[in-house]
Amino acid sequence: MNASPSSPRLTGGCQCGAIRFSCESVGHASICHCRMCQKAFGNVFAPLAAANGLVWTKREPKRFASSNTVKRGFCDSCGTPLTYEWQGDNQPVFLAICAFDDPSGIVPALQVGEEGRLPWTNDLAKLPGLSPEGTEKSVAFLAKVVSYQHPDHDDPDWKPRS
Ligand SMILES: [Zn+2]
Repeated sequence: MNASPSSPRLTGGCQCGAIRFSCESVGHASICHCRMCQKAFGNVFAPLAAANGLVWTKREPKRFASSNTVKRGFCDSCGTPLTYEWQGDNQPVFLAICAFDDPSGIVPALQVGEEGRLPWTNDLAKLPGLSPEGTEKSVAFLAKVVSYQHPDHDDPDWKPRS
């Protein structure tokens, strides 16, 4: 997904909205199965995309150096994992793909860290889904939930919950 000069900037942020970003475009997108990415995301792999022209529009994330080469940015209010940052100059910051307000167009083109892959992730698409009745109940339940999550667009009036 490469934005043309007239394209709007891509935006995103953490779940609570304390940290927001925008960038001109994204480059290389991948998923990383390594054990450090699993731990940093609390998940089976980390979907990441290189951000071009990144700007933190509210405040910067807190960072944890997970090794002597990489720092991980996250929101210290809500815990959302946000970045993978090589230490050193001229390296792009990689952003967590689902932290973008619209992650649908940021498609990973490579898998890395496969030595850490959990074997069952090979069969994720084969897992059964809910029954039609279960889906109906789930949708009805979610319709009643009051979300405290930042909306998927910039909102200058937004106040994060603590
Ligand atoms: Zn947050």
